[in-house]
Amino acid sequence: MYIGIDDTDSKNGMCTTYLAAVLVERLQNYGEVVGHPRLVRLNPNIRYKTRGNGAIAVQLEEKSGYAARIEDVVVRTVEEMAEFDAPNTNPGIVILDEIPEEVKNFSKRAVQDIVAIKEAIDLAGRYGQVRAFKNGRGVIGALAAVGATLEEDHSYELIAYRQRERCGTPRHIDERSAFEANKATYPLTWDTVDITNNTIVFSPSSPCPVLFGIRGDDVDAIQKAFEMIRSEPVERHIVFKTNQGTDAHLMQGGMTSVKEERSYILGGAVSAPPHTIEGGHVIFSIAENGHKIDCAAYEPTKNFRDVVRKLCVGDEVTVYGAVKGHTINLEKIEIKSLVECFVRQNPICKCGKRMKSVGCNQGYRCKKCGTHAEASEHILIDRELDLGLYEVPPSARRHISKPLIRMSGNVHPSI
Ligand code: ATP
Repeated sequence: MYIGIDDTDSKNGMCTTYLAAVLVERLQNYGEVVGHPRLVRLNPNIRYKTRGNGAIAVQLEEKSGYAARIEDVVVRTVEEMAEFDAPNTNPGIVILDEIPEEVKNFSKRAVQDIVAIKEAIDLAGRYGQVRAFKNGRGVIGALAAVGATLEEDHSYELIAYRQRERCGTPRHIDERSAFEANKATYPLTWDTVDITNNTIVFSPSSPCPVLFGIRGDDVDAIQKAFEMIRSEPVERHIVFKTNQGTDAHLMQGGMTSVKEERSYILGGAVSAPPHTIEGGHVIFSIAENGHKIDCAAYEPTKNFRDVVRKLCVGDEVTVYGAVKGHTINLEKIEIKSLVECFVRQNPICKCGKRMKSVGCNQGYRCKKCGTHAEASEHILIDRELDLGLYEVPPSARRHISKPLIRMSGNVHPSI
């Protein structure tokens, strides 16, 4: 059987992954957990999310005759641990014996699009057991987690949890040990630290029970990194199979058909040059077939903005990111071709001296030898920008965004 759970936490505490870790322990008596539990990141633009819009699913090879007992354990665990008093917490549980194609399709839509509570409850009810608490929104994530088979791509995350009495207090992690663990296991692990910005990125600052999470493609390397981290005591840890780092949220789109709160890959040519607005955000526009859209590299994307600032009108690019306020919030950019850019300069005289302008439309004269020239010189600028894919740094990366280190071709990973 497959058990999906979502929407059990609030900004003040808990985490659905922690509930999953406790549940997996409780389920040991009733069957065998198959593979790694799944942590599925859904549409990262959903306004109801607490943090990373994650939902979890566990596959259990249950002992015969225990189905009702297992359902009872799951419901009791959610009732005991979920933050029911928080206004935005609406837990959902789905239990299915198999994963029908319709549920797989629903899951894909929940990762990329916005789906309705009723659709989730009806669909889950048609194929299995569903428990909707409060307004039932959590059923969306619970069903989507069950339906995410991660056949196309996946990565792993080991999440270590804090002792309960420490939750809400500052976390104690030896940051040097995180840099050492990264050095020993990157690129099989990634997004532990942000070297360029000299910070660790694998530990949240919220009051939730997560101490840190180590992400990567190889469970042995993740385990090795885990053993290298020096920190406060770990209450428990668990390895999830996940769609993190896969770009599963991105849809190929046309500029006229993009919708708010969805994420796209869009091609075009730079139509308005980058400029920096208050707060340090860098904005430019791209256009295709007469339609244009703004693109933003926000301040938290730090050094990524240096790439964006070098763009010139006419450069061909492909942008990756979510649409918010008819603006693409950049997660990645591929520079496909660069136009030749020139600066205008006063001409250099044959005697070697740079000429001075005589006046408006009157050409240039050399002060040394008196030589006259009609036109200025156009100097080709070194664009100082290589073609290829660029990404925001680890400190600004969305859970579901694919780090370039996982991609091949002409990539410029940010480490
Ligand atoms: P955490 O990751 O820390 O567990 P969260 O960020 O996952 O928290 P939730 O508390 O799960 O946030 O809230 C997200 C809510 O949005 C859930 O009820 C989930 O079912 C719902 N949801 C997720 N994806 C979609 C979607 N594509 N369309 C509509 N609702 C969605």
